[in-house]
Amino acid sequence: MSDTTKPAPPRNYHPETRLVHGGTLRSSYGEMSEALFLTQGFVYETAEQCEARFTGSDPGFLYSRFSNPTVAMFEQRMVELEGAEAARATATGMAAVTTAMLAPLRSGDHVVAAKALFGSCRYVVEDLLPRYGIASTLVDGHDLDQWQRAMRPNTRSCFLESPTNPTLDVVDIAAVAEIAHAGGARLIVDNVFATPIWQSPLSLGADVVVYSATKHIDGQGRCLGGVILSSREFIQDHIHTFLRQTGPALSPFNAWVLLKGLETLALRVRQQSETAAALADALARHPKISRLIYPGRADHPQAAIVKKQMRGGSTLVGFEVKGGKAAAFRTLNALKLAKISNNLGDAKSIVTHPATTTHQRLTPEARAELGISEGFIRFSAGLEHRDDVIEDFQIALEQA
Ligand SMILES: *Cc1c(COP(=O)(O)O)cnc(C)c1O
Repeated sequence: MSDTTKPAPPRNYHPETRLVHGGTLRSSYGEMSEALFLTQGFVYETAEQCEARFTGSDPGFLYSRFSNPTVAMFEQRMVELEGAEAARATATGMAAVTTAMLAPLRSGDHVVAAKALFGSCRYVVEDLLPRYGIASTLVDGHDLDQWQRAMRPNTRSCFLESPTNPTLDVVDIAAVAEIAHAGGARLIVDNVFATPIWQSPLSLGADVVVYSATKHIDGQGRCLGGVILSSREFIQDHIHTFLRQTGPALSPFNAWVLLKGLETLALRVRQQSETAAALADALARHPKISRLIYPGRADHPQAAIVKKQMRGGSTLVGFEVKGGKAAAFRTLNALKLAKISNNLGDAKSIVTHPATTTHQRLTPEARAELGISEGFIRFSAGLEHRDDVIEDFQIALEQA
């Protein structure tokens, strides 16, 4: 890029500052807002320069499946936010998860994962990997003995999400990292529910962090995206070539949307977490609710771990209405403000019925084991005024 590019801000800036300035590359026009390089490829001054790009001796851009300036800005901003050495963006969160799981492994390897996973992540671990000779064992994420017992000499990766989707259980990341490392395996953490604002898995001992940028990072329901963050070595040895040659590249347009999303990430996550906490407090003792789970409350089953590894609660609340599926559906249908959908981290408040949507693929027994009952509702706080959101739920529950 041009010589108006300033070096990356030093690491000691606060996250909010890095979210606004991190990774910015300015062209010779000195534009204020990040430029959108909506281009498939690049032209070269000479055949010699083109050759040098292909051999790697000239570090410029080649082809947008490999790299692109707008995508590079997004990756660098995420690197500075997360405190990682390197990152690669992907077309979706699932492309990030699938690549982080599959790319470093080969037939004969073994994976241990917490069973409380986003539905598609569980498909990758439980169904996809074994088809290629990579065995997997699912464990109860907060039972450290189960992690320990599941480790085998050929275990190469451990995988978890915390808080989990949708029941917001919290797994001790540092403890699982220790078990993984003692067995010669890496720990991969899906940090979507916690967001980079409230939790930094790399500093807790994890080796790889993955995000669906579709969620809080975009935060306005516009586009899909994903990112893998880790050491320079892991990205270079396992991720770089796999992504280039298999092609789940992030569109420069989506990278630009996500870059602008990052500028307001901390503000939004803080605001949404305040609303989620207020709703959790308002509903905790509601007569029509049999169970409520919020990582910021003292009655959370892993409150001590929340305190140890998270800087804030969550933008999500889970609760179970009395009366099963019928009562849950009546509640969802009576809400005016909170929309029935399956995204999360959006500016608009969203309610999801996991048993019939995101976790519908699981058997009723597998759902019961995870605590996903027929009455369970997942709420994702938006940016509406919190009093309006709370009133929406109070009225809807009365009608349920
Ligand atoms: C949404 C989500 C994903 C998948 O992300 P996409 O962008 O939809 O592909 C993975 N993990 C978690 C925890 C998610 O919430």
